[in-house]
Amino acid sequence: MKIMQKHVLSKSTFIRGVQCEKSLYLNKHARNLRDEISPEQMAVFSQGTNVGELAQGLFPGGVDCTPESFYNFQESVERTLAEIAKGTKVIYEAAFQFNGVLAALDILVLEDDGWHAYEVKSSTKVSETYEMDATIQYYAITNSGIDLKDISIVHINNQYTKNGPLDIHELFTIESVYDRVQELIVGIPNQVARFKKVLLADKAPSMDISERCNKPYSCDFAGHCWKHIPEYSIFNIARLRQPKKFDLYNQGVVTLDQIDIAQTDLNPNQVLQVESEVNGTSHIDFEEIRNFTNGLNYPLCFLDFETIGPAIPIYNGSRPYQQLVFQYSLHIQETSASDIEHREYLASPTEDPRIGFIEQLIKDCGSIGDILVYNIGFEKGKLIDLIDIFPQYSKQLRGIVNRLKDLMIPFQQKWYYTPEMKGSYSIKHVLPALVPKLSYNDLEINEGGNASNTFLSMVNGTFRGNEPQTRQSLLEYCKRDTYAMVKILGKLNELG
Ligand code: SF4
Repeated sequence: MKIMQKHVLSKSTFIRGVQCEKSLYLNKHARNLRDEISPEQMAVFSQGTNVGELAQGLFPGGVDCTPESFYNFQESVERTLAEIAKGTKVIYEAAFQFNGVLAALDILVLEDDGWHAYEVKSSTKVSETYEMDATIQYYAITNSGIDLKDISIVHINNQYTKNGPLDIHELFTIESVYDRVQELIVGIPNQVARFKKVLLADKAPSMDISERCNKPYSCDFAGHCWKHIPEYSIFNIARLRQPKKFDLYNQGVVTLDQIDIAQTDLNPNQVLQVESEVNGTSHIDFEEIRNFTNGLNYPLCFLDFETIGPAIPIYNGSRPYQQLVFQYSLHIQETSASDIEHREYLASPTEDPRIGFIEQLIKDCGSIGDILVYNIGFEKGKLIDLIDIFPQYSKQLRGIVNRLKDLMIPFQQKWYYTPEMKGSYSIKHVLPALVPKLSYNDLEINEGGNASNTFLSMVNGTFRGNEPQTRQSLLEYCKRDTYAMVKILGKLNELG
């Protein structure tokens, strides 16, 4: 029997090559330079796997050709061809190889008019990268002798609202990319030849950092290629568009002190950021801050929510990726001079978190005084979502919405700006600037994305670890957010 040669390019390395040929080369020859995968990326990968498995239900009864070992896709190619020859009508993880290019496809189906290819994506729309992805699949499949009648992306329909058992026919949208593939396929043979040449070269192509480092994906060689860029550089200038940043970089400007302000088109906040860093100066608008702090009505609540956004809706009345509250922390202060009290809520992972959340929140917030949040759009948006789904709590929740005020305003408006804020008004930058002794560094969970992934893994039953201890870490993280707000307001009050 003829042994099939190992592939040179896969669908994912081809896409890597389209983004950057240096990345393609390094991935093959210097994999040790790759950045570590973050827990957030791991969570995205595992979400993608779950979605892929669920989508198989659209075409039930298929034969799975996943290879036993990740290193032996050729076995998968042979099994796929054998299944086709046998007359199998639905194949999952069908693999094809042509001209050294391997492409695995999520679902291959023999319909009345012939073969149809389906690639599943956990996103909510078809992107240019997915079209290219489908094109390389089409190239490998059709050149393996399969007459494909259509090729489609199966993606999540974010307008679907779960109501009763999950309806996968509503959850997924099937979008044909056949016409676009016919346009893109023309360039594939040349691209394949070019990428093979890159891989055979004795050194990586010389490519400097550019906008491609983040487009369409954050490149995992950034730690290597960007090491000459200091931690704080022109790339951290707030709201400066990428092309402008690279214009500066290509003129040799890397640090903020190298910027010629008179010659650079920056908005007033960007000028403030640069001048503040270069001169080590802070900007404080005492009058605006006094107006803000004097306008607050006590008793004051400091409130923060944590949310999960599962791709596949878990609870009735929720949509894919909808951010759902599962936890809050609330500090309460009767007067600016009084001690603070603390309340909190963390749902059980085994039930819909929202009802318990709403009922306790209504009790804890009382009925008078302002409720301070940091970035009002987030908490307000979640409360309005809750009103839509649980109208029986509408009156009380609206009462809470009407009492919300945003502690972010003084920093967003640059009434208070110090060099330590590094152009950002997020609480994670404002806190160390105003209250350097208080940080998130001592916490096991010290970031919102991590809190969300952790709780979601408990809900999904994939959490591995000490659950009571981790729930305590979740409580401590959220509590730190509202305590930070108490301390930040304390600093603003001192200015009055
Ligand atoms: S970090 Fe940028 S230049 Fe380096 S390999 Fe990745 S995309 Fe290419």
